[in-house]
Amino acid sequence: MLVFENIRDIRVYLKGEQIKKTSIGFVPTMGALHQGHLSLIQQSKKENDLTVCSIYINPTQFNNVQDLDKYPRTIKLDSELLLKSGCDVLFLPDNQMMYPSPAQLSFSFGFMEEVMEGKFRKGHFNGVALVVSKLFHIIQPDRVYLGQKDLQQCTVIQQLCTDLMFDLEVIVCPTFREKDGLAMSSRNMRLNESQRKIAPQIYKSLCLAKDLLLQKKSVEDVKNEIEIFFSKESLFELEYFEIVDSNKLQDVEDIDAHSQISICIAAFLGEVRLIDNLFLS
Ligand code: AMP
Repeated sequence: MLVFENIRDIRVYLKGEQIKKTSIGFVPTMGALHQGHLSLIQQSKKENDLTVCSIYINPTQFNNVQDLDKYPRTIKLDSELLLKSGCDVLFLPDNQMMYPSPAQLSFSFGFMEEVMEGKFRKGHFNGVALVVSKLFHIIQPDRVYLGQKDLQQCTVIQQLCTDLMFDLEVIVCPTFREKDGLAMSSRNMRLNESQRKIAPQIYKSLCLAKDLLLQKKSVEDVKNEIEIFFSKESLFELEYFEIVDSNKLQDVEDIDAHSQISICIAAFLGEVRLIDNLFLS
């Protein structure tokens, strides 16, 4: 596996590959890698000649300094996992490399960023759009692999690629889960033992909502049931629980009026913020 820390060097290398018509799959990450990340690498390896993974903890997408400081950093282990998974290239830039001067450009995604993650993490998607735009320009991939776990991020990045005409395909891969249903996340390693034990209740609440919706319960009734569910779970602080149109991310009242519905949640366990979602069908 080739490792590049410098933009100029990786550009030179990838240009050489592009001339040879090598197809490039790209998996952007913030490290602390787990099986979820590695499933994206596997998908990319199946569909491309060359797979590039980036590890960069992007400060501009954190609206909480503590969250940024405490974000797990396990680069040695990450490199070993990537090597074992057959990743071809690791891009490992630092802040000076990615932000030699503070960015003046800012993005607005309208309604798409006024709900859920955008509502509770002000400026988050501006930071995401900034960093992925830079990374897409540097790597120039044919395909980029994202996880459904960050559903709103996938929608925003898809919109970014459409509006700015990035010549790449966005591929959304299914959420990889622990055996007990908890969505794998780099943040899970910050949970203490008792928090980790009850963390799968997040997935359980999504499954409950899905069952109730499939039994034709109204959206309002389902949200009430979920409120009751979490009122019995004193360690959780529920931030949002939304039933939305998967494409527009807008709240729905009548699920039959929409072709694809997503059930989305964000909740705190102590200081650790976890998100998850399920498609209705
Ligand atoms: P992160 O390192 O958290 O920024 O995630 C990097 C990429 O991995 C994003 O596209 C995430 O959506 C994806 N990802 C994170 N967790 C999972 C998971 N459990 N299953 C599948 N993809 C995931």
